[in-house]
Amino acid sequence: MSGADTADSATSAPPNPPSAANDVLQPHERPTFVTPRDFLEQGRPVLPPRALTAVDKEQLDGLRTIRAFLKVRTSYDVLPLSYRLIVLDTALLVKKSLNILIQNGIVSAPLWDSKTSTFAGLLTTSDYLNVIQYYWQNPDALARVDQFRLNSLRDIEKSLGVTPIETVSIHPERPLYEACRKMLEARARRIPIVDIDDETRRTTVVSVITQYRLLKFVAVNVKETQKLRKPLKELVKVGTYDNLATAYMDTPVMDVIHMLVKKSISSVPIIDKQGTVLNVFESVDVITLIKGGIYDDLNLTVGDALLKRSEDFPGIYTCSMQDQLSTIYDTIRRSRVHRFIVIDDDNKLKGVLTLSDILEYTLLEGEENE
Ligand code: ATP
Repeated sequence: MSGADTADSATSAPPNPPSAANDVLQPHERPTFVTPRDFLEQGRPVLPPRALTAVDKEQLDGLRTIRAFLKVRTSYDVLPLSYRLIVLDTALLVKKSLNILIQNGIVSAPLWDSKTSTFAGLLTTSDYLNVIQYYWQNPDALARVDQFRLNSLRDIEKSLGVTPIETVSIHPERPLYEACRKMLEARARRIPIVDIDDETRRTTVVSVITQYRLLKFVAVNVKETQKLRKPLKELVKVGTYDNLATAYMDTPVMDVIHMLVKKSISSVPIIDKQGTVLNVFESVDVITLIKGGIYDDLNLTVGDALLKRSEDFPGIYTCSMQDQLSTIYDTIRRSRVHRFIVIDDDNKLKGVLTLSDILEYTLLEGEENE
């Protein structure tokens, strides 16, 4: 496939997924397809030395330019001129916090402890998944679940033995590169920018940088992303291709929630028995289900739960192993992408390429030689 073809494959829609007898899709279930780590602790795989081709050198040059750019820009540079920031008090009921997120169309918010006037971490969809798990393990505790306040989340998470609330943060004047490294190390998908007031010495939450905002900033400002011309199939482990967590349309939502929590991931491709990708169930889909503090919809199957997805769901982005990161960055520049589902020519699932996979590769590949 030529470079031009590859670029097209990241934007044009593949054929509708086939509808096997068991997997007939309702109009709502039919996703809009848009074709275009186990990291730090284990280290990136290092290839045995071999002569670099011109494309290899160009790729490394592109990566170096992006990293140099991130080292001279600060977190402030990423922020738009005007923006809103919703900060939640830790004394708020979990149920109310959920409504606030839904009403404002956001999926996370910094927490503020007004007793100590300090930043208390970032509330994300994973925290709600943890509350659901707690409720599921203690179904008689619904009355108690309803009374949970945000400041009790840490105890719930401790009792479940799951990842606690994210507390990593970055000062606005530190280089963006440092923000990226901190995110990778903490496996955080977003990082709050926290400043200290010169006079009062109190902390102030300035904003939150997401992986998407960061990668889009790179895609818009660094034209050398065009140098990343190696196809995914030639890159060593960018994305996940083995032991993929997947589900069927008739899988219970609760099973998918367990997968999301156990693997610490934010989406699960929905496939048919032949492995064809039909849709993707995301952790944010769970938020819609428990809106209003009613947990009954967790008994639904994935297929039925997807019927409840909002009309403005942006669709699923796919790519192939022939696609290049230049194309991926182009897509990030143009659209609000959460992840790419890697498929073959028959729409069969090959892997998942998430924003943290792209960020990790961009930051770490060949970095040991710099
Ligand atoms: P987000 O999508 O929330 O912004 P992210 O970019 O870190 O966060 P995750 O879905 O949390 O994406 O992915 C974390 C890691 O798990 C990545 O390396 C990704 O390739 C892998 N991964 C994602 N989804 C699956 C899955 N369904 N099965 C197996 N591994 C997955």
